[in-house]
Amino acid sequence: MSTDPAATGDPVSEFRPETLAVTAGRPDPVADAPLNTPVVFASTYIADGELEYGRFGNPTWTALEDAIGALEGGRALVLASGLAAVNAVLATLEPGARVVAPRHAYLGSLTQLDESQQRGLLTREYVDIADTAAVLAALEPRTDLLWIESPTNPALEVADLPTLLAAARERGIRTVVDNTFATPILQRPLEHGADLVLHSATKFLSGHSDAVLGALVTRDDALRDRLLNRRSILGATPGPMEVYLVLRGLRTLALRVREASANAAALVERMSGHPALVELRYPGFGAIVAPVFGDAEAAERFVGATRLARFATSLGGVETTLERRRRWPGEVATIPEGLVRISVGIEHIDDLAADLGQALDAAAGRG
Ligand SMILES: *Cc1c(COP(=O)(O)O)cnc(C)c1O
Repeated sequence: MSTDPAATGDPVSEFRPETLAVTAGRPDPVADAPLNTPVVFASTYIADGELEYGRFGNPTWTALEDAIGALEGGRALVLASGLAAVNAVLATLEPGARVVAPRHAYLGSLTQLDESQQRGLLTREYVDIADTAAVLAALEPRTDLLWIESPTNPALEVADLPTLLAAARERGIRTVVDNTFATPILQRPLEHGADLVLHSATKFLSGHSDAVLGALVTRDDALRDRLLNRRSILGATPGPMEVYLVLRGLRTLALRVREASANAAALVERMSGHPALVELRYPGFGAIVAPVFGDAEAAERFVGATRLARFATSLGGVETTLERRRRWPGEVATIPEGLVRISVGIEHIDDLAADLGQALDAAAGRG
């Protein structure tokens, strides 16, 4: 759709991520072309071309795929949601496949693995993804897929990507890295040898809490073709308006991630040592922090006392949101009852620190 070198999704680009976020996925710069890719609402196309039908392709999808592909250093596919992307990956496995996955990961991903095992489609083994020796040991019986999420949602464990991806490659094991928390601004798993990168584009890539969308990125064209086939046949197709919103949000990805990450680091400094906390989880980068309170009640007091930060699930928006994760009955039982996941936004750090500071005092019964 575009011959602009920044927009080809070519794995080796001369541009840096900050530039690619702005330039990739644009129409060719010819007279009277719009700067932005238009939203194409189409269920069908004049026949005998590349697209044919709205479930097979859409020019607005292609623009976002060019942009996400350029940022991650591969070729992307957009899908209806992050979980549609998870489903598409699992749908490429042969029956009886063995999958090694983090015991703490996005709840919906774990649910898909559990249900797939219950239906006899695969066997999954859960590991502590931060325990590199344990993950390597778990790969030993014949393994088909190593599922990595790093940092994990919501436990914030960090995997040793270079070591795990190299070990999997040596053994011929396919790898997928859910890069939703880090974004390609902070971590590009394909550069470390991952076969696939997965995104809930609903989160940081979009950045404005107004669209649900997923993406997969790979350098393996045959694998991309199989995933594209799964998207078409499973019907996991995104709406063009959502795709447009995510592409629009993506333009500021580098700015947003940098600002939110700086806010998160500053908040950790200001919150640490508060008597209401038993632990303050922070992977050392990114915009997600997870204070752990002594019990569910203290965590709920904290969430209920915030005035600026909003009590809402999801993450990655410009606004700060938070929730106690174990309020969800299905959340993994080894996630502490008192863990609150905070998605730090781009508000002024002093306003954020004041709000969360008074909420910490309230949680400690000093409010
Ligand atoms: C939200 C999320 C998903 C699922 O994405 P949806 O867009 O909600 O379907 C997958 N992985 C992680 C890490 C997430 O945070």
